[in-house]
Amino acid sequence: MKQYDILVVGASTTGSWFAQKMAKQGFSVLVIEKEEQNDVNRAYDIIHFGKEDMEKFGMEIPAVTDKDWGFTFASSCIFSPYGNHPKIGTPSPVIGVHKHDYIMRMNDAARAAGADIIYGAAFDDFIFDDNKRIIGASFVTKDGKQEVLARIVADCSGIPSAARTKLPDSSVVENYKLTNKDIFFVVLYYVEYEDKNVKPRSMDGFCMQYKAWSAPSGNEHGAILGIGAGYGYDYAEEVFKDYLQNIKRPAFRVEKVEKGMTPYHRTLYSCVDDGFIAMGDAAFLTKPTCGEGVTSSMVQGEIAVDVISGLLKKDGYLTKENLWPINCRYMKAQGKDFDALRPMLFGVISADYDEAEYLFANDCIFSTKILGGMGEELDLTAGDIAKMLAVITRGIATKKLRTETVGKIVKGLLQSGKVGKLYDNYPTSPADFQAWKKQADALWDEIGGMADTCDPAILKKLGYEN
Ligand SMILES: Cc1cc2nc3c(=O)[nH]c(=O)nc-3n(C[C@H](O)[C@H](O)[C@H](O)COP(=O)(O)OP(=O)(O)OC[C@H]3O[C@@H](n4cnc5c(N)ncnc54)[C@H](O)[C@@H]3O)c2cc1C
Repeated sequence: MKQYDILVVGASTTGSWFAQKMAKQGFSVLVIEKEEQNDVNRAYDIIHFGKEDMEKFGMEIPAVTDKDWGFTFASSCIFSPYGNHPKIGTPSPVIGVHKHDYIMRMNDAARAAGADIIYGAAFDDFIFDDNKRIIGASFVTKDGKQEVLARIVADCSGIPSAARTKLPDSSVVENYKLTNKDIFFVVLYYVEYEDKNVKPRSMDGFCMQYKAWSAPSGNEHGAILGIGAGYGYDYAEEVFKDYLQNIKRPAFRVEKVEKGMTPYHRTLYSCVDDGFIAMGDAAFLTKPTCGEGVTSSMVQGEIAVDVISGLLKKDGYLTKENLWPINCRYMKAQGKDFDALRPMLFGVISADYDEAEYLFANDCIFSTKILGGMGEELDLTAGDIAKMLAVITRGIATKKLRTETVGKIVKGLLQSGKVGKLYDNYPTSPADFQAWKKQADALWDEIGGMADTCDPAILKKLGYEN
């Protein structure tokens, strides 16, 4: 049986980036990809990344004449539910690329660094040693089943989490499949405005209450109008009607519609086990604000490259104990901030359109300071908090805000603090993991998920049980 240092499952952005980084250091890497080369990641066309992130993580920036180049633009703002009071962070350059072609570029870079890629090869199962530790995996191609040995298997297979979900129940890595409540179903409408004098870029921005946005499509007279929601595409399409109703746009023609899924779930408590790591969408590393996940996955990826390359240079099995620093460092670098933000978002999403409009207008909660710095540690002064409390008190007195909504927002803020505190005490070794997990489970049971903020009336209309 062929022996590799690393077996990577999935040749999309996370898998090919990790394979390239490890192969560049001289490790032997095999990537298996379920799809045939021409079919990899065809679900939707355009994907974008912050230019600074691309540079930070060593992602190639295509030339404007390259096949995968899309366009460039500046990051935009967040609008109120009626399209007013834009909150703008510091605009930064963003690069849009054609996803399939860009992944082919990443695949080429991995191969140039020395990695092997087999397309049309679906992960089948792990191979275990006599101590029930992972030592390789089997995969299926059109020619039948094959087996390889590897010192570590990296699951980069996205939402299906083909390898992670085959881990035994005794694993410290959770092995469940995501349900439709843990997924963001995204619908993208590529539109072209009929009046060529319309300036689509002036309407670009995100609307939290609908989880909908307008973004460049590469067509100067057009835009991608996108929306994401739990439960299913039909739920997203239903909310999209409200979005179009409340934020009037000039007449447009829909040129094409694309659909795709991204995880919306707290980070895995542990991404590593004996001879195993979950990465990218398979470890739910997407941004809680918008569901984007390519560069946020690389935050964990960089830590993994550092720890795993150090271990592979030495002899011996890669145990969960010596891989554990990946968990600890990731929680500090990003995991804690992302997961602490979730309950806060669930709270603010509970404001209805009119309530949110009031808060936007008064720069309270939906404020430039908070929305401009999403995902960063919040640095609110006593003055900021006093101002917010005054706006909230006035809102309740004038019936612009319901006490129930304020209660939900406060609850979210308190839960956010609890998550931060718990994640600050993330166990330094697997020995203390089960006790920590018990506390984390209890807290997340109390917090729930984004799908709990879905409108019961729409769920009922569409026949979903909540
Ligand atoms: C509509 C939409 C728009 C988005 N836009 C952005 C954006 O602009 N910017 C951004 O950063 N993020 C965006 N995201 C999120 C982003 O697409 C994901 O976070 C990212 O693709 C995750 O990459 P990944 O490599 O971890 O997983 P994936 O891209 O899901 O790749 C997994 C790979 O594993 C393969 N695979 C699956 N099962 C097996 C198996 N059994 N054996 C072998 N291989 C297997 C799949 O074929 C696939 O190639 C968007 C998501 C959606 C749905």
